[in-house]
Amino acid sequence: MPKKSLGQNFLRDNKILNNIVESGDILNNDTILEIGPGTGNLTEVILKKNPKRFIVIEKDKNLANLLKKKFNSKIEVINKDILDCYDKINFDMPIKVFGNLPYNISTKILTSFIKIENLKSKFEKFVFVFQKEVADRILAEENTKNFGRLSILTSWKTNKVKVMDIDPKYFFPKPKVWSSLLILTPRLKVEKFKNVKNLEHLTNIFFNQRRKMIKKPLKQLFKNYEKIAQDLDLDLNTRPQNITNKKYLELCKLYENLVK
Ligand code: SAH
Repeated sequence: MPKKSLGQNFLRDNKILNNIVESGDILNNDTILEIGPGTGNLTEVILKKNPKRFIVIEKDKNLANLLKKKFNSKIEVINKDILDCYDKINFDMPIKVFGNLPYNISTKILTSFIKIENLKSKFEKFVFVFQKEVADRILAEENTKNFGRLSILTSWKTNKVKVMDIDPKYFFPKPKVWSSLLILTPRLKVEKFKNVKNLEHLTNIFFNQRRKMIKKPLKQLFKNYEKIAQDLDLDLNTRPQNITNKKYLELCKLYENLVK
């Protein structure tokens, strides 16, 4: 029986599985990391591409054992919670990360990757299936209602594309919502911060009051908020979703100069 607590919705359609794998452009020299392989449906299709090395991280002990039996020495099965593994992921590049992610922790999984230092030197791309509503928030641009912390954090370090939406009928058990396949590619040129927590703090302050005009959060963060608004050409009467990604990064730079 699939476990709801572990977000187990297995993909069962070969055409969809093939689409996911094809969009990852796997080469023989690649190291593949798969998050939450489950019963190994996606794993099996990835294996056909003969990657150099293939590691999977699966939290469910029964499934991890099943995968070991099913694939023997063709893959390396790590029976752990991905959220405890980030500092241990240190394989040879190029690494491509795949996952039909457990929906209850999909944003946590993604943001934990994003926060890794020198992301581009460690990961070539992420090929992830999210619930569509989360994918929409990741992809959102400014001046739209979905724009927020998740869009800013992911835009900071990656280029993002949607490959396709996936009908719930292709999963078992069938989820209530649609899903989307996204590819996120780390960029070489990335704004450097002293601490990513500062960016999270700043965007939290803005988006926890997303209906308020930005004068309020700006004032909360900066004593000289009027000068800052002028320097960055920000209209104090707009709302948080109307400021560009780039301006949030600039604001974070200024904020970092204030905090120790
Ligand atoms: N990739 C498979 C299964 C996707 S369902 C398929 O497409 O068919 C999500 C999978 O993630 C499940 O197998 C679940 O057990 C696993 N999982 C859930 N939480 C996890 C965690 N914290 N770390 C690693 N795997 C996890």
